[in-house]
Order: sequence, then structure tokens, then C-alpha cells
Amino acid sequence: MGLLDGKVILITGAGNGLGRAYALACAREGARVVVNDLGGTRDGAGGGQSAADQVVAEILALGGQAVPSYDSVTDPDGAVQMVRIATDTWGRLDGVVNNAGILRDGTFRKMDEAQWRSVLDVHLNGTYNVTRAAVDALAAQGGAVVNTSSISGMIGNFGQANYAAAKAGIYGLTRVLALELRKWGVTANCVAPIAKTRMTEDIDRVEAEWTPDHVAPIVVYLLSELGRGVTGRVFGVRGNHLHVYEVHVNDGVEKPGAEPWTPAEIAATLDAITSFDVPVPTPPTGAPVADPMAEVFVRVPGAFMADKAGDYKATIHFVFKDAPGRTLRIGDGRAWAEAGLVGAPDCTIKTDAETFGGIVNGTIDAQKAFMKGRITADNMGVLMKFAMYFRFDRSAAAEAPAPAPIVAAAPAQAPPKTWPIGKTWDGGFAFVEPRYTELYAAATDDSHVAYLGPDAVAPPMFHVRLFKGLLFAIATDPELDLDMLRLVHGEHDVTLHRPLRVWDLVQLRARLVSVEEKSSGLVVTSQLLGYVEGTLVIEARTVFFIRGPTKAAPQGDGEKQSKARAAPAEPARPPDFTREIKVGREQSYRYAEASLDDNPIHVDPDTARAAGLPDVILQGLCTMAFAGRAVVSAMIPGRDPSFLKRLSVRFARPVLNGATLTTQIWKKGRVAEFIVKDELGNVVISNGLAEVR
Ligand code: NAD
Repeated sequence: MGLLDGKVILITGAGNGLGRAYALACAREGARVVVNDLGGTRDGAGGGQSAADQVVAEILALGGQAVPSYDSVTDPDGAVQMVRIATDTWGRLDGVVNNAGILRDGTFRKMDEAQWRSVLDVHLNGTYNVTRAAVDALAAQGGAVVNTSSISGMIGNFGQANYAAAKAGIYGLTRVLALELRKWGVTANCVAPIAKTRMTEDIDRVEAEWTPDHVAPIVVYLLSELGRGVTGRVFGVRGNHLHVYEVHVNDGVEKPGAEPWTPAEIAATLDAITSFDVPVPTPPTGAPVADPMAEVFVRVPGAFMADKAGDYKATIHFVFKDAPGRTLRIGDGRAWAEAGLVGAPDCTIKTDAETFGGIVNGTIDAQKAFMKGRITADNMGVLMKFAMYFRFDRSAAAEAPAPAPIVAAAPAQAPPKTWPIGKTWDGGFAFVEPRYTELYAAATDDSHVAYLGPDAVAPPMFHVRLFKGLLFAIATDPELDLDMLRLVHGEHDVTLHRPLRVWDLVQLRARLVSVEEKSSGLVVTSQLLGYVEGTLVIEARTVFFIRGPTKAAPQGDGEKQSKARAAPAEPARPPDFTREIKVGREQSYRYAEASLDDNPIHVDPDTARAAGLPDVILQGLCTMAFAGRAVVSAMIPGRDPSFLKRLSVRFARPVLNGATLTTQIWKKGRVAEFIVKDELGNVVISNGLAEVR
């Protein structure tokens, strides 16, 4: 099995250097390759068929499939012809690598117009011509465009005004292609290689060891299914070094008032306007130590709570950005640290020396550091156990009734005086990818045919996956400073102005609507907005409830108020429809993968129990998806989910895997009220409201 089995790839300038290496690598991965090359010299003079023929022969000798193309990328008809060779020979085109290039260097004052135009023509117009000719064939089934930029275009290089302008133009073109072609499942990226070829043979600083074969893997990756979600990127490659180029914008300076800046003011403020500085952390006092973690790790075993951990065993690797790694072993009722990364880890925790040192010293709240992404782990269950079994604040918190997840108790934070009402978060763009809509439908046991095929719709609750990142951004926003340990999802109300369809490119936004300080806790309401091609398609209001008394409200009656909020409202007359749904034994695990909501209380029984629950609980939004399906099957002929317009719920109680849920529905025309109960008759969703088209 090759990574490119079944795919047809067109590579321009594939008769030499980098293009040849890409063609051979693609063929080795099972692709059928159109090997295009004009066969000219390095500066674009002359032409011939031997370069393309030679590479085709090499591919055939490997047992691969390839056909030559001798057209110039500068000729729009030639570009159409290249694409036709692919579609006539193999009936499809899955990828284009715009690689053809020439060099005609010279400093700007000496560069004549022919020099300027010829280089722009091959690189920039050539990339345009071939992409233009190929785009319909690519869009037919999804595919990839890989363009070629250069350090010269991304940063600049003496003597290459023409070449740098062309390569920067290709960058801009690629960014726009990435935005516009997502809709059809077509990605667009650049490579910016440095490799020894005839183009660089006379440049000493290009090392002989940096070969075209070092660049080929990233191109294959971007053409393959492995690179399917990657678009709009520029990958720099030099030997075995891979990196990205990105344009960054600094914070800048906003002049107060309505008066425009004066040139003199700009001159006086230039340093601040152009600064990218971020606050530099205070350097540690005392003599510099080569490995700041050596001292920190001495303290870690002492924080271990053997009585809590019982016979728990684990090997945890700590990988620090700025310090040598450490291994923490837990077993036989003790914990000990070893230098280096030793043994097979159950979990790898990545962080930096300052963060981990701060956690161990009690100056950084581990929970918050985790939520801000300063700590990551590849096994949440182990991370949570690490948090439960190590107390770095033992003396300070000796009287605390139970260990807080992830370490330390920071001093109680007062709520901010003014909430950032109206604050917006930008979630960028996300594709509605069929593999994920199908996964989501399967994880909610919804087998409707509307989710299959090229015109498939997304399940009504699929937006949860798209907005996961934004919900996380709100919950962890430093200006809100919410206590994650007390946060529960209270309500969710979504309106689909039209159903999401596969390959929709959704622009994601969120806005803070209100923060109510109640005696029982904070009620944080946000709005989620999804636009497709500038039109609002999806709109959701979501409420987080942060349990516990707030400064602004009297303490003591929190429990009563929280119960009052959850009190179910059930109409007096018997329901018009009743639908029963069985929750699978593994449902929360399957839903975690499909929705990306893999909070440990849904997937790690020990963590769930430590949080006072009998076992892992089902994600509320999954229960909501079940209720939506019950409403659809009760109210919509053919049970077509695209007719569900609005679904609104209040989450009243947790649901366990294996539960039997009964949705009771009261219909009023196109609107329905509903509640969901578990097998014990507990209301788990109250205040349900649905509207169909
Ligand atoms: P190369 O000269 O070895 O290969 C370029 C190929 O493009 C040649 O076979 C040439 O015949 C072909 N070509 C030129 N004009 C053409 C046209 N009009 N139509 C069709 N084919 C044409 O150079 P290379 O180093 O392999 O460069 C490949 C690409 O990588 C170029 O776009 C180049 O700008 C880019 N690049 C290379 C480096 C490097 O370090 N080699 C660095 C940055 C960018």
C-alpha cells in the first residue's frame, strides 16, 4: 500500500532537480505521474523532450506509471494540455505540484525588462496557468496543490528582485487558493526548499548534503491523505530541517481619539509601532544552573501521596522545551525521578522549565497552566492521576478535604470588576469534512442516509466539533478567569439557518453575551456564530455555569438556587410522542472522538470517580444529539435531519453510559417542547425546545 495509491499527480519542471525527486517519490508511493518539463537551461533558454522522457523512463523502470508532457508552463494552452494528458490517460487528477522554475539573477538597477518578465512568467504566471487549468479536475473529487515559494520570496535576497517578487506572489496566490478551494476539498500549500540542484550548484552555502530527496517527503505528505487537513501553509525544508514561514502582525499602537496620526507622531512612536516585544519573564535569581529541573525534581517525590495512589503504577516522561527531560516513575507505593527519558512512557507531559518549576514551587496554578496550553499531555488519564497523587502545596493545604485535580491551590481569585461583555473570539475557518460528519453521525447512533454521499448534510449537532476550540478559548480566557473545576455546561440553544453541508468552509466566531453573578455561581452566556461564504448559517447560545458563591452575591443558598435553575418544566398533558434511546456502554468514548470533547470525566473512570461521579458520564451535547434525533423521528416525515431548524435544552443531570433515555415530546405545529428522562425517571434534559422547517 502506497500513500498515493490511485492518485494522479501532475508535476511541472519534473525533468531535473527537485521536480524529478518529487516525481520518483510520488511514483514509489503508488501515484500515476504526469512528468512535465520544457527541458531548457537553468536560465530558461532552449528546450527539448529528453529531461521529461528520462524521468518517465526511470519511473517505468521502478514498475511505476508515468507519461511525459513537454509544454511550457508559460503557455496557458500548454497548461490545459498537461491536465488533459492526466485526465485522458487516467480519467482524473488529484494533485498538482507547481515546481517549474528558472533563474535570471541581477541587481535591480541592472535588471532589464526581459529578465524581470521572463522570471515572473515562468514562476508566477506558470503557477497560475497550470492551477487554473487543473482546478476543475481537482475539485471533482478533492485534491492538493503544492506550489513552490522560496526563502527569497518570503524574506528577500540580494540580486533576486524578479525571482523574489514571483515567489512572494506565489505565496499570496496560495493563501487565497487555500481559502477559496477548501469548499471543494482542495488544499493549497507551498514548499520553500533549499537543495543542491543545478539552480544552486554555484551557491556555496547550499550544502551538498541538502538533496532534493530530503524535500520530496513533505511534498508527498501534502499530496496524500495524511496532509488532508493542512492548507495555506509554507513549509521550509533544508536537509532534514523542516519549519514553516508565517506572516505575523504585532500588537501595534492605537492613537486615542478621532484625529489621524501626524507624520511627526509616527516618527516619535516608531519603536513602539514596530515592536514585537513580549514581556520577558524575570530571570531566576542566584547563580545560573545548567539544568533548572535538577533542583525542581528533587522535590517531586516528596509531594507524592502514597496513601491516595495505592498500587498505581506509571512511567511519565517530562519533556521540557528548555531543559533536559526527566522520567518520573510511580509504583510499589513510592515515586522517584530519573534523569533523561527512560523506559516506555504511559504518558508524555510537555511543558517548559518555568511553568513546571512554578507548579512545584506553588507559584503557578497547574490547572490554569494546562488550560492555557502551557502543559500538554498525550494521556489525560495519567495526567489527572499525577495531579491527584502529587500535592506540591502539602503544608498549606493539609486540611483540604480532597486533592484538587492537577496540584496547587492558588489564592482565591476575586471576580473581575467589569466583565469583558461583547468580547469576541476568532476561531478561523473549518471545513465540514465528510469523514468527521460520518464519524459524528456514527457516534450518536444516527444512520440516516442524509449523512452520506457528495450532497451529504452534517448531523444537526455536528457544529459542536467545529466550535470545540472556541468553547475552550472562552472557558480558559484569562479575562474571564473562570474556575474550570466548577464549570458545567448549563444550556445550549442552536439555530441552523440552513443545514451544514460537507465541504462547507465555516468561519467561526464567538462573542461574550453576558455574565450574571448569582449567589449560586456565575452564569456565562456566549454566542457562537458560523458563516459560510459570508452568510450566517449557524447560531448558538451556550451557557456555562460556574458553581460556587461569587463575591457579588450572598453566600449560603447556592445549593437551593442551583436546584431551582435545573427544575424541570413539564407540560400537564400527556406527551404526543415518546421515543426511547439506549445509550451504548462505550458511548462517551465514541462521542469523545467524534466531538473532540475528551474531558477525562467522559473517558477516564478514575477521574470521574475522583470528581464524585459513579463512573464516566456522557457528554451533555451527546444527550442533546439523541434528543434531536428523537424529535426528528417524531416530527419530520422521512426523518430527514436537514429539516431540524432549532434545538434548545437545559442540562439537568448527568447521564451514564448504558442508560435508557426517554424523550417525551409535546407538539405545537412546527415547534415542539420536550424533556428527556433516564430509566429511573430523573429528568436529564429539561426545557427542551425544537423547531422544524
Ligand atoms: P532545476 O533547474 O533543477 O529544475 C527546474 C526544472 O524546471 C528544470 O527541469 C526546467 O527544465 C524546468 N522548467 C523551467 N522552465 C519551465 C517551463 N516554462 N515549463 C516547464 N518546465 C520548466 O531547479 P530546482 O532547484 O529543482 O528548482 C525547482 C523549483 O524549486 C523552482 O521553482 C525553484 O525556484 C524552486 N527552489 C529551488 C531552490 C533550491 O535550493 N534548489 C530553492 C528555492 C526554490
